[in-house]
Amino acid sequence: MKYVDVKEVFAEIPDEITLAINISGCPIHCPSCHSQYLWTDIGTPLTIESLAEMLQSHIGVTCICLMGGDQDPAEIDRLACWVKENSKVRTAWYSGRSELPKEIKLAHFDYLKTGPYDEARGPLNVRTTNQRLYRVEQGEAGLQLTDITSRFWK
Ligand code: SF4
Repeated sequence: MKYVDVKEVFAEIPDEITLAINISGCPIHCPSCHSQYLWTDIGTPLTIESLAEMLQSHIGVTCICLMGGDQDPAEIDRLACWVKENSKVRTAWYSGRSELPKEIKLAHFDYLKTGPYDEARGPLNVRTTNQRLYRVEQGEAGLQLTDITSRFWK
């Protein structure tokens, strides 16, 4: 799995200073994708070591967001698990899938975004969107997903 760039962003996850890692090799191929350069396997290998370096050089971020990586959800889960076990930074995954794959363990994430980009329905910040952002929360029966997509609509 490779990444093409890393940016500190403020809009992707509400209330967080997020380090967004743009992962290439996207297999979803949404028809109206604005980032088709991410469909090919380009960039730098994304490893535990590179994650550790990113965290060291971006002191102050409160969340790390893996943007993409749908070609290997088990690896996404492994990387998020490492961040959880080795930092106080919260973890997020932006997936293009409509449903979360079984490899994703809720305990390793604080936020999960699902849904391909559908130009007719719009992105997360419009009410018609098909995409969803969930916060992983402790419920009475264990970890649960709470839909917080409406936070983008204010
Ligand atoms: S998931 Fe994102 S990068 Fe992949 S095709 Fe859809 S819009 Fe493009």
